Amino acid sequence: MQRIKAIFSVVVLIAIGIVIGALLMARPDGDLPSLSKSAFAAGGKVESPTAEAPDRYVYYPGTEELKPDEIRVIACGTGMPSARRSQAATCFLVELGDGQKFLFDIGSGSHANIESLMIPSDYLTKVFITHLHTDHWGDLASLWAGGWTAGRTTPLEVWGPAGAREDMGTKYAVEHLLKAYNWDYMTRAVTINPIPGGINVHEFDYKGLNEVIYKEQGVTIRSFPAIHSGDGPVSFSLAWNDFKIVIGGDSAPNKWYPEYSQGADLAIHEAFMTSPQMMEKYGQPAQLAARINLSFHTSAQSFGKIMSMVKPRHAVAYHFFNDTDTRYDIYGGIRETYDGPLSMATDMMVWNVTRDEVVERMAVSPDEAWDVPGPNRPPGPDRSRKSEYTDFTLKGRLDTSDVNQSWLDDFMKQNNLKPEDLNAGQ
Ligand SMILES: [Zn+2]
Ligand SMILES: [Zn+2]
Repeated sequence: MQRIKAIFSVVVLIAIGIVIGALLMARPDGDLPSLSKSAFAAGGKVESPTAEAPDRYVYYPGTEELKPDEIRVIACGTGMPSARRSQAATCFLVELGDGQKFLFDIGSGSHANIESLMIPSDYLTKVFITHLHTDHWGDLASLWAGGWTAGRTTPLEVWGPAGAREDMGTKYAVEHLLKAYNWDYMTRAVTINPIPGGINVHEFDYKGLNEVIYKEQGVTIRSFPAIHSGDGPVSFSLAWNDFKIVIGGDSAPNKWYPEYSQGADLAIHEAFMTSPQMMEKYGQPAQLAARINLSFHTSAQSFGKIMSMVKPRHAVAYHFFNDTDTRYDIYGGIRETYDGPLSMATDMMVWNVTRDEVVERMAVSPDEAWDVPGPNRPPGPDRSRKSEYTDFTLKGRLDTSDVNQSWLDDFMKQNNLKPEDLNAGQ
């Protein structure tokens, strides 16, 4: 009996050891994807059944006031040119503690992520474009028209590089985008005020080496060249309040990024999918899969080398589909050459940068967000604009006044509308 008891005790001790060991093993380290990190970081305890949970390390947009000495960066797009619902194409929103906000790239699909942050359109008027691939500016049209109808009161301001030729620059691209959307513009401008439907382009030389391209209200944004697909692409750094955020555009490794990113608090740079992944997932031939990582984009190992040269307070890798079967090969490649703080970015990842720390969290934002009105009201419509209808179309109207009369009478009374108000923009 005594012997059975002893064996039983040993078995119990071993079992306890296994459980503790498993729990320790399950503690994710700081480099693992942020959801598990958040769960680990939750910490604290709930004091009663009705009490708040302590710091969850989750960012709920619209619930957290930015401190004066703090920057919040949100990845609104981190993916690829091919669309996927979980990752839009490149877009980073930088929010400064004094309220200024800047968008860096606005790739296809990213506008919906921006909207889920419930920021009034009037605060999202400044867009900096690294280069003119659709995965870096494909949603500019959506921000332009969507923000206009959502009550933006001023035109959009867009900064982007000039090309080596006039037809390869940002000015040419935006002018022709507006030409392509002429019908959209003309038909909206007759109904709502046309001024917020403008886009002012601030083009700068892509060859500028750390040149200041923006300097207002304590914010300095500089540009330096990138090497990607042809002349024109650039990267940006934003300096404010002794903080420095670097936003790398698509690039093969280049000498300018490490040089001009020195002292970065947050250094964002692409780290492309591995060449075997490009072959497996995209069906690319081996030769192209290798060149993609060497000539147009940056391999994981090169990303690591660059970050080891920059030594930022925190590095951010993006521009890959962030899945369980892709993430770790890229992560492993980076760790061959860089052992500093690192985020493997995915959409809605958030970084709060303060003097003390850089904290990575995930935003939890609503899929059903509506535009949130800001403090300003848009100016009224321009009554001098002519209708875009001809009689041909107007004569096709079906008279449904009999079924609308009852609600319309009440509505007009409640809102002091006159009959002529109903004809504006006809
Ligand atoms: Zn590109
Ligand atoms: Zn890209």
